[in-house]
This record gives sequence, structure tokens and C-alpha cells, in this order.
Amino acid sequence: TGKLYLVPTPIGNLSDITFRAKEILNEVDYIAAEDTRHTGQLLKNLAIKKPMISFHEHNTQEKIPDILSLLESGHTIAQVSDAGTPAISDPGELLAKAAIEQDLTVISIPGPAAFLTALVASGLDVQPFTYIGFLPRKKTQQLEKIEEIKAITHTTIFYEAPHRLKKTLANLAEVLGESRRIVLARELTKIHEQYLRGTIAEISEYYQTNEPRGEYVLLVEGMQEATEETVTPEELINEVNQSVAS
Ligand code: SAM
Repeated sequence: TGKLYLVPTPIGNLSDITFRAKEILNEVDYIAAEDTRHTGQLLKNLAIKKPMISFHEHNTQEKIPDILSLLESGHTIAQVSDAGTPAISDPGELLAKAAIEQDLTVISIPGPAAFLTALVASGLDVQPFTYIGFLPRKKTQQLEKIEEIKAITHTTIFYEAPHRLKKTLANLAEVLGESRRIVLARELTKIHEQYLRGTIAEISEYYQTNEPRGEYVLLVEGMQEATEETVTPEELINEVNQSVAS
């Protein structure tokens, strides 16, 4: 049978395509692309000509059987998304799962993913980490999600769109408190690449005078274990008395 390759593409800088990714794109029978125009441009830059299959979040269910039958009849297919690694907050997860369910060969090619690029230069603890992807858009659901990650003691990573960033910062402040440390990694691998590191309060203040622009990865430091404070016997007695009184 055929093979399904998951092929990462650049998240900005066009040089971030691996030799192997290029080889695979050159060898396969078809390329399943999230946006055929976007991928067409990439293929043009790489001087590759290939038939493309349009595969995106709005036609996932109807296209999966077609792609599976091409694989079953021995064809090789590379799946690419608009940017980064397919299946990472991208359509593609379902295709990979469906292919595995049919016992077809799925091969993951390593390459760029925005969250990992951001994590290793964030300055926050790298492992373990939780990758959430995009937060729910509705406020109540977003607050619930943030509530879920509130007590996690390791780094949590989100993707966020620029026009929603300020609201998300406000919601983070509401649930996590203004002093929780976060990192915003913006426009990775591009000309305006930038890391903002600070407390939610500091970063929110920055965005009072600067409009969020470009693509963002948002990283939240884990909840810090309460630091052991030295307590004098008098303070201890005070505390005990208070808790008895209340
Ligand atoms: N599959 C991609 C990956 O491997 O990272 C993610 C696709 S998701 C639809 C797009 C989101 O990824 C953007 O909204 C942004 O949050 C993040 N992203 C993609 N490229 C980025 C970049 N160059 N810098 C910062 N964030 C980026």
C-alpha cells in the first residue's frame, strides 16, 4: 500500500524547509494541501510540480475516504498545512488517525512547529509542558479553560490571534492573577520576531500603547509552589487564632 507523509513547511522563513521535506514533496504522487494556492507558491519556490488535493477543515470528512482509497491503491501522499507541522492545531489530525485505523503507513517528517520553536527560547521550564492550541473564543468557555490550567505547575502553551490577544490577556489576569509570568513569542522566524517576557500586568500594560500584530504563541509559567517562609512563633499563633476564630 501507499504511504502518508506528514510534511512540515516553514512558519515564516522560507529557508526552514528540510532537505528531506523537499525530497518527499518531490517524490510523492499527490500533495494534500490546506490551501492549494498557498502551497502552490511554496512548491513554485522549490521548483516542484505536483497534483494537489485540497484538504481543509471544511471538507475533511468528505475528502478522507478519497485520500484513503488513493493510499490503499498504492499511491504516496504528502500532507501539508499552511504553515508548520500538519495536525498541530491544523486539519490533518483526522486524516492521520483515519489512515492509522486502516493500517496504512503514516510517516511523520520532523520540522518547524511554532509552539516548540517558542518554548525552547521562552526562558520558561521546558519540560514537562502542556500544549493547548487555540483557546475557546467565547468568554465563559475561555475562562473555564484557563481555570483548568490554573494549578498546573509546568509551562502551558497557547496559540492566539492578534485581534483576540488583549481580551485573552484580560481573561488570564482575571483567573491567574496579574503577577503570573507569561511569554509572548511573536512572528517567529520572520523579520519582526520578538519575545515579550514579563508578568501579565506588565505585558498588558505594553499592549495599552502597542497594537498586537502578527502571529503569536503565548506561554504561561506554571503555578509556583508556595515558597517556604520563615514564620516566627508569634505569627504562627496569630494565624492559628485567626483560623479558629473564622
Ligand atoms: N501547524 C502550525 C504549527 O505547527 O505551529 C500551527 C497552525 S495554527 C492554524 C496557526 C497559529 O500558529 C497562529 O495563529 C499562531 O498562533 C501560530 N503561529 C504560526 N506561525 C507562527 C509564527 N511564525 N510565530 C508565532 N506564532 C505562529
